[in-house]
Amino acid sequence: MFNGSMHCRNCNNKLSLNFDFYKKYFEKHEIRCDLCQEIIDFEYEVKFLFDIYGSGHYYQLLGCNGLLNNAVILPNQPLRLDISEVIEQGRLMYISYTCVGTGGLVPVEHFGNEPMRYPRDNSIRIIYPCKFIGSDRAVGPTNINIIIWYAPKILLEDIPIMFMLDSFQSFYENNYRNMILTMQTPIEIEQNILFNYLKTNLLSFPQDMQNMTVEFTKTSYSKRQLSYLPLISKTLNMPSLDNAISSGLELLNKQRNMLVHEGRIDNNFSFDNAKECLISSFITVQYYRVIREYIFRVFH
Ligand SMILES: [Zn+2]
Repeated sequence: MFNGSMHCRNCNNKLSLNFDFYKKYFEKHEIRCDLCQEIIDFEYEVKFLFDIYGSGHYYQLLGCNGLLNNAVILPNQPLRLDISEVIEQGRLMYISYTCVGTGGLVPVEHFGNEPMRYPRDNSIRIIYPCKFIGSDRAVGPTNINIIIWYAPKILLEDIPIMFMLDSFQSFYENNYRNMILTMQTPIEIEQNILFNYLKTNLLSFPQDMQNMTVEFTKTSYSKRQLSYLPLISKTLNMPSLDNAISSGLELLNKQRNMLVHEGRIDNNFSFDNAKECLISSFITVQYYRVIREYIFRVFH
């Protein structure tokens, strides 16, 4: 199971979103920062990270690495930034430049005369120092902060997470159609991984779980989600997914079906709807992973 992370807002300690963390969350136990003991309100923190998605922080939920660097830009001298050694075989998900202090220059990139063809994940960036248009203020060396979020190679080999990365990126780009198309796929893959695992190890499980596994493999995405997953959770004494998550999944499924059957989504599908679908999908993927790991630990 991959480990995403988030930070305690009280002491900034990095919290690993591992099996134990998610198990506590799904079992509705109190979660505390292991350093300062502050209570962690996971749902609040996830929503918060989706509200500030413009700074890329929400990529850490999927296990991406973040980096804050600084540099100095000089008047009339483009700065060449090579991040290939940082991201190696991984994928750049987010980059931003911000000027700090009083140098008066603004760091920008330009995208040539065919901007739509510019590869957005280039690991060589050329940063141009610009003056504010209309300003006659003197400019000089200017400090800049550079924020990078990237997915290390190991995440790209985790197929459901790769789809989640695509969804997160489409959300960032306000491309809701792509976001919806890629968002249900990781759940379907998790369903198949779980049920193939159950099928392969059928005889190790109690009889009622064996029966439900045989039934489950013959059914559709929705029936698996709505009927069989709660049954499996019940057998394991795990609480079912929250109603809020289930209704987010329902909304996602409705939009996805409209897209593949009618080529469109609801006209009034909003930013908040997109966020609700994305959070529901992200948490459901974790839920399947916890169930799978739990089954593995209990029955082996
Ligand atoms: Zn803390």
